[in-house]
Amino acid sequence: MARPFGQLQARAGKQFTKARFFPFVRVIEAVKVKVPDVQAIGQLVRLHHRVGGAFDATRHAECPEQITHKSCFASAQVAAQLNERIAQCRLRRQRCGKRPGGILIGPNNTFYNHGVNKNTSGDPARLVQHIQTWARELGFSQIGIAGVDLASAEAGLSAWLAAGFHGDMHYMAAHGLKRARPAELIPGTVSVITARMDYLPASTPDDWQAVEFSRLQRPAEAVVSCYARGRDYHKVMRSRLQKLGDKIAMHVEPLNHRAFTDSAPVLEAELAVRAGQGWRGKHTLVLNREAGSMFFLGEIYIDIPLPPSAPVTPHCGSCTACIDVCPTQAIVAPHKLDARRCISYLTIEHDGPIPLELRPLIGNRIYGCDDCQLACPWNKFAQRSALPDFDERQGLTGQQLVTLFAWTEEAFLKHTEGSAIRRIGHQRWLRNIAVAMGNALRVKNDAQLRYALQERLENAEAVLSEHINWALAQ
Ligand code: SF4
Ligand code: SF4
Repeated sequence: MARPFGQLQARAGKQFTKARFFPFVRVIEAVKVKVPDVQAIGQLVRLHHRVGGAFDATRHAECPEQITHKSCFASAQVAAQLNERIAQCRLRRQRCGKRPGGILIGPNNTFYNHGVNKNTSGDPARLVQHIQTWARELGFSQIGIAGVDLASAEAGLSAWLAAGFHGDMHYMAAHGLKRARPAELIPGTVSVITARMDYLPASTPDDWQAVEFSRLQRPAEAVVSCYARGRDYHKVMRSRLQKLGDKIAMHVEPLNHRAFTDSAPVLEAELAVRAGQGWRGKHTLVLNREAGSMFFLGEIYIDIPLPPSAPVTPHCGSCTACIDVCPTQAIVAPHKLDARRCISYLTIEHDGPIPLELRPLIGNRIYGCDDCQLACPWNKFAQRSALPDFDERQGLTGQQLVTLFAWTEEAFLKHTEGSAIRRIGHQRWLRNIAVAMGNALRVKNDAQLRYALQERLENAEAVLSEHINWALAQ
């Protein structure tokens, strides 16, 4: 929640320092106003009080960082709509000495009632209800609101990075603590709308967890993580978040907003938990009592304050199923994931050779891993998606390793068009399949597998060639 205007103004008068209010200083520099001057500061605080909401934020500490091992760890897909036009317009108005528009909140106003039209009647709770309705129409399963004070997550994030658990996902470290400070990432942000979207296809059977586990017992068959069998969720989520943001902007003007999904600079899971979407399971993913963990998350950063949703209580209890089932012991402690050991990281994010000691543990998983989610009892409540986008594409489920290994680059691009899998490229795809083929050969010698490996060896690049030789030696 944003700090009330009067309180901020009083604070600004008494305690102003460049460090504490540096965003205002940036604004001051931008509009070429002299600082410090208490009156000017007061005006700037008034103009930008929503930014200020984030600056009481950096005190406590705990929570580890969530790594979205259900999804493309990285790719840092910032689904963004830059509303610079609006921002520039505000600046121009400020330079001309005009009020910057309907978003300002004076001491006697509550929330953003200048800018809310008749559809919301200036009632933020009612606006949230509208947002929920619009979100449902767009295929989202749940909407929640979080504030921007993620200070308690900073220590955990720093410790996770310091331990090197992020592996070679350097973009995780590159954004530093901005990840835990939404208002530093997108100046002006005071609230975050978090969105959840279920992704199991409509045809998913009731015993789907058992069905998925059974695939792992057929070594010559390739297993692709459930979330990646349909359309690339980045595209699905991004376009719908964008539409939702636009819809809100039609009702609250002017509104700066930016949408994200699976984006490196955003602490998605942390925000989702604070927005009441669920609790952090011991596998680090967000769990929901009515939906398990088989959903995607997205966020819209906005510069209007909305009432935050109530968080939910955790319900893992004494269960350790996800920790026990993990093939590589990547969940090193409850709520702590060493991404370097996680099969999702190794098969999707990690470029170069897969560590030798981990290859046998990968089994026939060629893209991602669902085991910790399959073992989770809450996933018997996982919901089916209403969107056809996540229906399985032909050619990705129940395929033999040799069939997929025979795909040329052209065939790979054709079969993975519009899929998240395309992001890893043909060479990494072949590398993963080679590992799975080696694991299949260890279980049972198979002339067809060997022939396919040898055939590829001839023109293979160095990394792939090394993996093929490893597979042939099994
Ligand atoms: S079971 Fe282990 S390896 Fe698989 S996704 Fe979960 S943490 Fe990663
Ligand atoms: S498997 Fe058990 S411990 Fe792990 S997230 Fe699910 S409920 Fe929590």
